[in-house]
Formats: sequence, structure tokens, C-alpha cells
Amino acid sequence: MTPLAEKTVFKKIIDREIPANIVYEDDLCLAFHDIDPKAPVHVLLIPKKEIQNLSDADPEDQSLLGHMLLKIPEIAEQLGLDDGFRVITNNGAGGGQDVYHLHFHLMGGRKLNWPPG
Ligand code: 5GP
Repeated sequence: MTPLAEKTVFKKIIDREIPANIVYEDDLCLAFHDIDPKAPVHVLLIPKKEIQNLSDADPEDQSLLGHMLLKIPEIAEQLGLDDGFRVITNNGAGGGQDVYHLHFHLMGGRKLNWPPG
């Protein structure tokens, strides 16, 4: 994919240029509360590497993506989502993606309807 001309808001959060309510961080990824939560718990998990979305990920990102997916239940447990949770990634304009830095929405704390619409 063509590199973005400007930093995304998520890259600015990684670089500590704008604040975020961080709930988890390691060398590879960062999780923080969504600024406009759609559920009582709504956290975004992002890679520190700039990947625009899943379509922009490469085979070399396999271990990073596996690492992030395996972190999700740990973060969910930390946030008290004992009853279950949902993980979503919006991919591209048709998928409803607004911020072009890969992110997994981790949502829970209420009964989540299906399909999400
Ligand atoms: P998308 O629509 O790209 O899947 O999701 C982007 C998400 O990022 C939205 O849920 C939106 O509320 C969240 N978001 C956008 N800007 C900011 C920000 O500056 N800080 C935080 N914490 N979340 C943001």
C-alpha cells in the first residue's frame, strides 16, 4: 500500500504526541480505550509497526499478528470481561475503517448483538 503522507492518530499515540488511556503495552503493541466507546469496555489494540490494515500485512507480520491475537484474551481478563467479548477489525472503506493503522476493537461489558450492522 502507498505510505500515508501524514501520521495517523494512532501513530501519534504510539509516539506520545497525543494522550491515550493505555491499558497494555509491550515492545510490539499497545492497547488503549477508544475515545468514543460503543460498549462499556471498548479498547483498541494496535501494532507499533505501521500496518494500514490486514490487507496491508505481509507474511513477515505473522508472528506479530499472532502475538496480538493471543494478547486479546489476556487484556479482556485484565478488564474484567469474564462474560465474553467481541473482536473486530474494520478493513478498508467498505469495511468501515476510519483510521488507517491496523487495530482490533475489543468490546464487551454488555450483551452484544449480532450482526453488528
Ligand atoms: P475504525 O472505524 O477505523 O475501525 O475505528 C477507529 C476507532 O478509533 C474509532 O472507534 C474511534 O472512536 C477511535 N479513535 C479515533 N480517534 C481516536 C483518538 O484520538 N483516540 C482514541 N483513543 N481513539 C480514537
